[in-house]
Amino acid sequence: MRLEDHVRFVRGIGPKKAELLQKLGIVTLEDAIQCYPRGYEDRTHITPIAQLLEGEKQCVHAIVGAEPKTAHIRKGMDVTRCKVYDESGSLLLRFFNNRYAVTALEVGKEYAFYGKVQAEGKSLVMIAPEFEPVGADSKTGRILPVYSLTAGLHQKDLYTVTDAALQTVTGEYPDFLPEEIRKQQGLPPLGEALVYIHRPQTMEQAQQARHRMVFEELFLLSCGMRLLRSRRAGKSGARLRDLSLNAFYRALPFALTGAQQRAIEACTMDIAAGKPLSRLVQGDVGSGKTMVAAALCYLAAKNGRQAVIMAPTELLAQQHMQTMEPLFGKLGVSCGLLVGAMGAKQKRETTQAIESGEISVVIGTHAVLSDNVSFHDLAAAVVDEQHRFGVSQRASLTAKGENVHLLVMSATPIPRTLALLIYGDLDVSIIDELPPGRQKIKTYAVGEKTRPRIDRFIDKQCAEGGQVYVVCPLVEDSETMDTVRSSAESTAERLKKILPHRVIGLVHGRTKAAEREQIMADFAAGSIDILVSTTVIEVGVNVPNATLMVVENGDCFGLSQLHQLRGRVGRGKRQSFCVFYGADKGEEARERLRTLVQTNDGFAIARRDLEMRGAGDFFGTRQHGLPPMKMADLAGDTRLLEQAKLAADTLLENDPELQREPKLRAKVQKLFSQCGEGGFN
Ligand code: ADP
Ligand code: MG
Repeated sequence: MRLEDHVRFVRGIGPKKAELLQKLGIVTLEDAIQCYPRGYEDRTHITPIAQLLEGEKQCVHAIVGAEPKTAHIRKGMDVTRCKVYDESGSLLLRFFNNRYAVTALEVGKEYAFYGKVQAEGKSLVMIAPEFEPVGADSKTGRILPVYSLTAGLHQKDLYTVTDAALQTVTGEYPDFLPEEIRKQQGLPPLGEALVYIHRPQTMEQAQQARHRMVFEELFLLSCGMRLLRSRRAGKSGARLRDLSLNAFYRALPFALTGAQQRAIEACTMDIAAGKPLSRLVQGDVGSGKTMVAAALCYLAAKNGRQAVIMAPTELLAQQHMQTMEPLFGKLGVSCGLLVGAMGAKQKRETTQAIESGEISVVIGTHAVLSDNVSFHDLAAAVVDEQHRFGVSQRASLTAKGENVHLLVMSATPIPRTLALLIYGDLDVSIIDELPPGRQKIKTYAVGEKTRPRIDRFIDKQCAEGGQVYVVCPLVEDSETMDTVRSSAESTAERLKKILPHRVIGLVHGRTKAAEREQIMADFAAGSIDILVSTTVIEVGVNVPNATLMVVENGDCFGLSQLHQLRGRVGRGKRQSFCVFYGADKGEEARERLRTLVQTNDGFAIARRDLEMRGAGDFFGTRQHGLPPMKMADLAGDTRLLEQAKLAADTLLENDPELQREPKLRAKVQKLFSQCGEGGFN
């Protein structure tokens, strides 16, 4: 058979199994060969009965001592017991509803048994072992791959299809990884690696194969990101002649921090060099990224062109509008808001004004991506809180103009290597300085015992003119959304009872969008003292008067998320506080929360978070818009990631379009077509 053949034609796989295999993404033999085992069972090691360990799966060679005995326990449940022995001792086997075992096991004959060993009283029992005559070496005496399954499929079926697929891997199996790089990294050729990964003879082989597959994945990813980058870099950016920002600086109500200035200068230098700006501005919550965006928009407008800022929520878009409108008003630059919730008439008027060029700076949500929205002359695009959007949304925004300058802003601090990869197509500016006068947020990790004191503290903050957020997270083991909602609801009820003189607002997942926006707006305006919410309070929301953040069940959040939440306070001049409940939920919880008490450094926190949770959780699924990783662990394999990136950079330096590596090029294209990037052509 050939790799492109359908698995349906494999002997032993009928149409029904083929359908189930499709659920695992396996249609052809090629898919089968790329479906790697999720682990291995090392059955090469034979343990003497006397040395068996409780609780582990092990292999013994033993002789059947007596006829197996079957007892009917209850309806539909037969239990067969059988005593076996080796030189070191004897062991009881137990099978359930296994007639085959009863007939197959011959007294006096030696078999290899593999199964989990449990203690029962003083003796050990092997539960439902697999077995075969010693020397058969099909179920024991070797390393067995373990594949992910779906209901109705068995390991046996995966063995059948991968066996058939491996038959095609002979002799000179084509390898897309350039030989030089492969040798440099000490990796096995693809054909060998495929055999090793599916049918390793030793655990070292499996390890070597995994190493190659991880490298390969990270290498493909690095090549793809680099190709994306050079595509844009090859073009010239929208021409903006006048890059003076003096009037802009004068119109600001404060002096910019050094870090803000450096980020802005990096932008103007790229533009002046005639390049399309492709820059990520990464800075902790409250570091003042918005002003970098404003500077870019101002430059576009000043040159008679248009700019757009896309924010992930309406509230954020509105807040940007509130910041920018007075500023741009002073500078004679028109700006307009475009969000989904606007009435049809208003929306139509705004879209017309955008199309005619009457509005220079458009601020909106993903509504700006709509096909109805076309710009008169778009020269600059800003994507705020980038981690909420995918790589492809970024691309469709810049597609609204020609050679559009792109700025993305993110508060999700990512360790450097990872940032290089995820934002590999972007230059990076880091804002590592907070505006002056900010006081460090005083953070406390507390348990239930402290609740009465915290309640009084909430009241005190309100009495002093501050405002308070109380966040009730989605509790891990809550069964329905109702429990989640009610945890916020009951918290609000409780606070209303003990603090009847305070105005308390409640927002949860079921609150309608319009109502939620209204409550948030009321809170921002100061007419609500205490805002109780599930985690719906949005990233980037700016209420400088909020001085206290209380988080219930802090142990249920990731550290970076807690840090983001904490960033909702400490935005004004007054001393702010943050209280995390959950410190009484065990040593691990206390340890995690202590990280936040000790440091305010978002990067340090992100690193800890990543160490503790792995990249999958860290980003949530899909947030980064990268193609899915099968083998690589973006957090764990950082050294390999660096090597892969370096190898990709070196290769593409000399062969920017991978013309000399057509197989590699095709592979990269295929990988990126899965993430909606639409390939490279
Ligand atoms: P983020 O980086 O989280 O998007 P923002 O841009 O929303 O931060 O800024 C947070 C707050 O800091 C805003 O109220 C903003 O007006 C203020 N701010 C920004 N830059 C400065 C500065 N250089 N000096 C004083 N305040 C500033
Ligand atoms: Mg922001």
